[in-house]
Amino acid sequence: MSIAENLAQVKERIANAAIRSDRSPESVKLVGVTKTVDVERIQAAVSAGLEILGENYVQEARDKIEQVGEQAKWHFVGRLQTNKAKYAVKLFDLIQTVDSMKLAVELNRRAQPLGRVIPILIQLNLAGEETKGGVDHAESLSLVRQISELPHLQVRGLMTMPPFFNDPERARPYFRQLRKLSQKIAAAGVPGVEMTEISMGMSGDFEAAIEEGATLVRVGTAIFGERP
Ligand SMILES: *Cc1c(COP(=O)(O)O)cnc(C)c1O
Repeated sequence: MSIAENLAQVKERIANAAIRSDRSPESVKLVGVTKTVDVERIQAAVSAGLEILGENYVQEARDKIEQVGEQAKWHFVGRLQTNKAKYAVKLFDLIQTVDSMKLAVELNRRAQPLGRVIPILIQLNLAGEETKGGVDHAESLSLVRQISELPHLQVRGLMTMPPFFNDPERARPYFRQLRKLSQKIAAAGVPGVEMTEISMGMSGDFEAAIEEGATLVRVGTAIFGERP
């Protein structure tokens, strides 16, 4: 199948999952994850109506953003090293993977001279996996409070990537947990913080994520095919 056909199918599955869970299809936004995908194929997806792209590596994203540019919004979804913060604040519309005060302080410092307020999500590591980024559940509210003091960042919600399972039902408890945490942080009413986005769900499990409240799903393989 072509990229346009894959995209149409993913969008239809998103809409169906939303409707099944009494949500409007417009309440779920699709982020096409384009790590290792070349500009030509990204362009095909954008022409077919993909509006948000997610990149994992700053260096790789830089060339693509130069070529594809403002036809789409760009989200950073990878692990961000503090020494790449200065590029990230220039390139991305939203950074989904903030998980420490150290990184937040650096992003804030680099956004200041640009006069930008960078929308960010807080990445959660709900299973405590050492190989993945993300803050612990127990530390998340305190991190949100601290980041809310930084004038050049705005917290817009939460993101997570559960352990890999073949069965989406096994990821579902993590999705549910992220949504509950989002409600808890929203209820804390931290000034300047908006808990509007919940980024969860990938090719293998985005429908379960939507049923549990995802507002952003990050899908690569189901649109672009297997990565090398
Ligand atoms: C690669 C990646 C995705 C997409 O994964 P697929 O299984 O290809 O859909 C989503 N989120 C993050 C953070 C990723 O690194």
